[in-house]
Amino acid sequence: MRVVVAGGGVAGLAAALAVARAGHEAVVLERDAVEPGSDPQSAFGDDRRGIPHFFQPHAFLPRGRRVLTSLAPDVLDALIGAGAEPQDVAARLRGEREPGDDELIYLWVRRPIIEWALRRAAAKEPTIELRPAARIVGLALADGRAPRATGVALEGGETVRGDVIVDALGRYRAPEGGDGARRRRRTAVPSTTAGTSSCGTASTTSTTVRTTPSIRAATSATWASTPSAGTTGRMR
Ligand SMILES: Cc1cc2nc3c(=O)[nH]c(=O)nc-3n(C[C@H](O)[C@H](O)[C@H](O)COP(=O)(O)OP(=O)(O)OC[C@H]3O[C@@H](n4cnc5c(N)ncnc54)[C@H](O)[C@@H]3O)c2cc1C
Repeated sequence: MRVVVAGGGVAGLAAALAVARAGHEAVVLERDAVEPGSDPQSAFGDDRRGIPHFFQPHAFLPRGRRVLTSLAPDVLDALIGAGAEPQDVAARLRGEREPGDDELIYLWVRRPIIEWALRRAAAKEPTIELRPAARIVGLALADGRAPRATGVALEGGETVRGDVIVDALGRYRAPEGGDGARRRRRTAVPSTTAGTSSCGTASTTSTTVRTTPSIRAATSATWASTPSAGTTGRMR
C-alpha cells in the first residue's frame, strides 16, 4: 500500500514511520524546505515559519514516549542522546505507586530536536520518500457515489497519488474562506484512478489524565460522558 502523508511535521513524520514499519510505502509532502540533518544542532537552522512555536521548549507526553518505545526506539534513543531529559512524574506523586506509574515519564525537549530525530529516522527508511518544498494545494478526487481522495495536488501542477491520504497539515493552514490551502483543498482535481482501500485514518488529539477519587466524584458527569470513563479518560 502507498500512503500519501500531507505535512511533514511531528504527526506526518511519525505517521510515515508507522506506515513504513508496518511494511508499506509512504511519501511525505512538506511545504517547508526542511532536509534531514546529520546532527541535532542543524535543526535549529531550519526555516519553519509555518510553526510559530517551533523554538519553544516542549514536554513530550508519556503516551508519546510509550508509543516511541514500541514503534521507534531508535527515535527515543536519538532524543535522549541529543539531550532530551526524562522527567519521572510518578516519583513526585503522593501515595502508593500504581500500575502504569512507571510509564509516567515526560521528556523535556525542544521541538526542533523532536523533528530532527523523526525526520532522520524517516530518511533512513527505504520505503519513505521525503519531499520538502512540496506545497499541497488540493485533493485529487475520484468520481463515485461519495468523493474519494486518490491523491493530492501540488503547487506547480503535479498530482501525487496513493491508496490512503493522511492529513497531517496541522492547524496553521489558512482559515476557511481565506486565500489559502483550505479553500484550495476544496477544489477537486479530476482523477481517473479507481480502486479500493481497506484502510482508513483518523486524527485525534488526546490527553491522558490521572484522577483521584474526589476529582472523579466531582466530575462524574464529565467522565461518564466520555467513552473511556475511569481512572483514565480523554479530554478535549
Ligand atoms: C505554544 C504551543 C506549545 C505547545 N507545547 C506542546 C508541548 O509541550 N507538548 C506537546 O505534546 N504539544 C505541544 N503543543 C502542541 C503541538 O505543538 C501540536 O500538537 C503539534 O505541533 C501538532 O503537530 P502536527 O504535525 O499535527 O502539525 P504541525 O506541527 O503544524 O505540522 C504540520 C506540517 O504541515 C506542513 N504544511 C502545512 N500546510 C501545508 C501545505 N499546504 N502543503 C504542505 N505542507 C503543509 C507544515 O509546514 C508543517 O510542517 C504546543 C502547541 C503550541 C501552539
